[in-house]
Order: sequence, then C-alpha cells, then structure tokens
Amino acid sequence: MSTWRDIWTEASALDRAELLRKDDDWLATSWRSPRSWLVQTVGPGRIAMAEQTSLPRLRPRGTFDAQRHFFLGTLAEQGAEPRAVFTTLEHEDALPEGLTAISLRTAVPQLPGPEADIAVAATAICQWNHRDRFCPGCGNASTVTDGGFARWCDTCERFTFPRNDAAVIAAVLDDDDRILLGHQKSWGGGRVSVLAGFVESGESLEQAVHREIGEEVGVRLREVSYLGSQPWPYPRSLMVAYFARAADTRVRVDDMEIVDADWFTREQVARVIAAQDDAVAASGRGASGWPDGAESTTRDVALGGVPISLPGPGTIARRLIEAWLADETGLSVPAQTPGSPDAPPHA
Ligand SMILES: [Zn+2]
Repeated sequence: MSTWRDIWTEASALDRAELLRKDDDWLATSWRSPRSWLVQTVGPGRIAMAEQTSLPRLRPRGTFDAQRHFFLGTLAEQGAEPRAVFTTLEHEDALPEGLTAISLRTAVPQLPGPEADIAVAATAICQWNHRDRFCPGCGNASTVTDGGFARWCDTCERFTFPRNDAAVIAAVLDDDDRILLGHQKSWGGGRVSVLAGFVESGESLEQAVHREIGEEVGVRLREVSYLGSQPWPYPRSLMVAYFARAADTRVRVDDMEIVDADWFTREQVARVIAAQDDAVAASGRGASGWPDGAESTTRDVALGGVPISLPGPGTIARRLIEAWLADETGLSVPAQTPGSPDAPPHA
C-alpha cells in the first residue's frame, strides 16, 4: 500500500515523455504495441478496475484515435523498451467483463505509487478533455493535440492547456498544541476536517491560508509552514497543505461554509483515528474516509454534541493530522507564557 508521503513527494515513475506526446506517428504505432497499457476512466474520479489494489492490465484495441485516446507517458522496465500508457473515457456499460467503476478516493490509497500516479493523471486528463471541448475564446470545438495535454482552436489559432485549481488546506494549531477542526454545512454526521479553500486570482498561497482561516473561523495566524501538495482531480484541484499557528483561539464560524469548529487535543484525535481505522479494517470494505459506526467507541470526542469522524487515509487532510501527531509540523515552538506550568524557570 502506498503512503501519502511516498506517492506525492518523490519523483514519479511515470515519465510524461513531453516530446513523444507530440509525435502522432509514434503514438499511433505505440497504440498497436502488445506491450502498451490502457487505463479506462469512467466519469469523474472513477477508474475501471477488477480489484482495488491494482490497475487491470488492459491492452489498447481498435484504431488509434487521437481525439479520444490520450497518452499519459511511459513506464521504464528492466531490460525492455519503456511501456506506453494510454487512457480513455469509457461508458460504464461498455467496460470489459469483470471490470467495474471504482472511485479513485477509495482506490488510490491502496494502489502502488506508479499506479496511483497513472490513475490520478488518467482521470484528470480524461475529464479535462471531456469538459473543456470548446475554445474559451470563440466557443468553437477545439481539437486534441499533445496526446491530450493540450487542445488547439483553428479559429483563434491558440492552444488551451489543462487547468489546475489551486486550493490551500491548513491545519491550524494553538499554543497548547491543539488542532482546529471544522464541520462544513454540506457534510453529514460528525464529519470534521482541517480547513480548506480555493486560492483567488492575484493571491499567494500563504495569503490564501490567512484569508480562508480568517473568513471561515475568524482566527488570525502568526506563522504558516508548508507541508506538501497533492493532485485532487475531482475534477481538477491541486491541494497545497500548510500548518499554521493561531495568534488567538476564539473561534467565530462564518455559518456559510463552516457551521461549527473547535480545538481538539492529540489524545482525542489519535483515539478517533485508531477507532476509525479499526472500523474500516473490520468492515472489510477497504479504505473509506468516513466509515459508519466509527464513532461508537469515541462518543466523548464530539463537536456540537455529535461524535466526530476524521478524513480517511490517502487524503492530504489526514496526512496533515498524522504529521501533527508525529511532531512534523515545521512550525517554531510556541512561546511559553510566563506562569504557565511548562514555562522554564527564570534564571
Ligand atoms: Zn477559438
């Protein structure tokens, strides 16, 4: 199983082969190669799979069609030519026998690193080409180029490229090392998470963290520290994760996006994660963000009287929480307030 760290912070095993994707003859020849590999996506965020722990080894079939067969890159293999990886968007009822559409959110935490990269890139590229078929300049249909990584408009004579919507996600900590977790209006049950929001035009990532936390919970921040990022192609976000130190602890939720939020201790959060992971393992359904009944043994850890549940493995929100529990926040140690029990004795 992949951990968040080894998937998203190391070099990808998928060589995106920028020069090869521009070579139409090479793409058509590779499509016919018995060594090439096809990944079928099914609508937003779903992949055709037989099991959740590996991608099926499908071979491309039929004639290569550059308008719907997209080239993701190559995988190096010992003692052999690199293997070309293609993807296409398929209707659910046209999938090969034995395959069903499985959610990437469920599958990605269980896939080996290279396959997780391929699955995420496949859904991102298929969805972009499906949703953005028309030129934003003139409204005419554009055509696929560069193996699906660009589209060309003959009328405007210009390219468009896949868009990534940057969003910041921040674990806010107070001077007592508690974490701020909020409940969104659109979420069911006791689901809580760290806070997130889209970056606006003309804004830095750090400025977006300050603004979003201020808007959603009214907390000012003293320090912001980068953790890492994760593609989140549902449909096209790039999540950029930060730790932040609160300058004050009074919470005033905006009641628009966040309807409740509060501070939780390490002991409380670690207990909920352990109970939730046990419930997922016992259910036998594989990784799931919010398993039913996970709160039954941790009823006392609640927000607004409702037992909380936390983000599942494979999400950057969960990674932030785990990094905090492991003391890997990158934030400076909070200043000790005079008279607090842990303050060092004055010389
Ligand atoms: Zn145009």
